[in-house]
Amino acid sequence: MDFKSFIRDVPNFPKEGVLFKDITLLLQNPNALKETTSALFELLEGQKIDKVVGMESRGFIFGPLLAQKLNAGFVPIRKPGKLPSETLSETYDLEYGTDTLEIHFDAIKKGDKVLVHDDVLATGGTANAACKLIERLGGVIVQCNFLIELIFLNGVSKVEDYPVKSLMKY
Ligand code: IMP
Repeated sequence: MDFKSFIRDVPNFPKEGVLFKDITLLLQNPNALKETTSALFELLEGQKIDKVVGMESRGFIFGPLLAQKLNAGFVPIRKPGKLPSETLSETYDLEYGTDTLEIHFDAIKKGDKVLVHDDVLATGGTANAACKLIERLGGVIVQCNFLIELIFLNGVSKVEDYPVKSLMKY
């Protein structure tokens, strides 16, 4: 399937100068939704996964679909103050300022085999913070996978310790 034909470029969103990759056309097409889930699943090449970790908010779309196919659990990583129970947090640098992500303290067990999933790998800050949280809880990261990798932002350099795979590259 030509996945790229379902990706819409939106200029100047969410701010001036950003060309946003919009996945909503892919989501609303039943066949594309199914094929994308299968293709992400195949990136694992049969490796065993205990937990799929998805980042707020678009990591919550394919994350649980993948978890079902992998017979794994799903764990959300969220922005500060959203998770109700005890959390671990990780702060990372943005171009201007910082951002923070949180995970539930009991979401990953020591030795859990983890797949990290998000829709887009851009600068890699989000994925890097997610990986740190998972490792602080004793999880073993098997793969980081994404629908889209924005190669020119070199996000892979922030997750170079792990296998990184993506369905589409720009
Ligand atoms: P990073 O931390 O710079 O790698 O940014 C990745 C995060 O920003 C992911 O959670 C994405 O959902 C979001 N993101 C960045 N660029 C885009 C885009 O063009 N389309 C959709 N999401 C994006």
